[in-house]
Amino acid sequence: MRLTLLGTQGWIPTPRRETTCLAVDDGPLLFIFDAGTGLGRLLRPPASKLIAGAAEIHLFLTHYHLDHVCGLAYLPAIFAGRTLTVHVPDAALNGVEPQRGVPELIRKPYNPRAWHEQPGLVLATLHEGVNQVAGHELRLRAQCHPDTTVAYRLDDRFVLATDTVADPQTAIFARGAEVLLHESWIDGVEEDDPAAQEMVRTTYQAHSSARQAAALAAQAGVGELILMHLNPLRDDDYYAQMQTAARTIFAPTFIYPDLHERVLGG
Ligand SMILES: [Zn+2]
Ligand SMILES: [Zn+2]
Repeated sequence: MRLTLLGTQGWIPTPRRETTCLAVDDGPLLFIFDAGTGLGRLLRPPASKLIAGAAEIHLFLTHYHLDHVCGLAYLPAIFAGRTLTVHVPDAALNGVEPQRGVPELIRKPYNPRAWHEQPGLVLATLHEGVNQVAGHELRLRAQCHPDTTVAYRLDDRFVLATDTVADPQTAIFARGAEVLLHESWIDGVEEDDPAAQEMVRTTYQAHSSARQAAALAAQAGVGELILMHLNPLRDDDYYAQMQTAARTIFAPTFIYPDLHERVLGG
């Protein structure tokens, strides 16, 4: 099983990073998490090999904020002639009827072709707790964000916790996982700066810091923490500072460029 980071930026794509999208391939099985602009990387090498080698493809959404779903407009280009199952959380998790979420977005005047007019697209729902998908165990739990998001855990391989405030339950949900992918919007060192208090307060209503993510990773005992959904208003120097701050709490913390690959369970 292999993890590929297709998009690690939050909110706005930048020349070096696309918005949230992750791929996990396991032989002929391809799992994709979120449909940010990073989904477009599947059209071109090196990531196009993931589609070429896939016999069964599943896409999972964490929530409906546009930076996580704008890639749904690319589906006809990427998955033409293929069957794609798009999994969304059920209404008990996020209060959104599944039939409303995606089809409401993929219709005129927002998209030239409606969801139901595109052959090969299948909508499926996932519930809180354990779901079985293509022979794998996929767990979901709700997270706090301006709109409810869900965290995913795929077997004992990885946990994706993005667009969330730092949540103590994440440490339990991620316990023993090989990799934790956690959002990181600020460094966390700003907590010590009196001039930054308002910025820190508003950030923590929706997002997490690198230091908070590292504390959760340490409590969970994961093998590696990958910081993602990075703030597009910050630069590489700031990301390096985030990584350094997180490593004082949890040493195996990394910020990778888009298209980074990692073997899972190897
Ligand atoms: Zn986001
Ligand atoms: Zn969001």
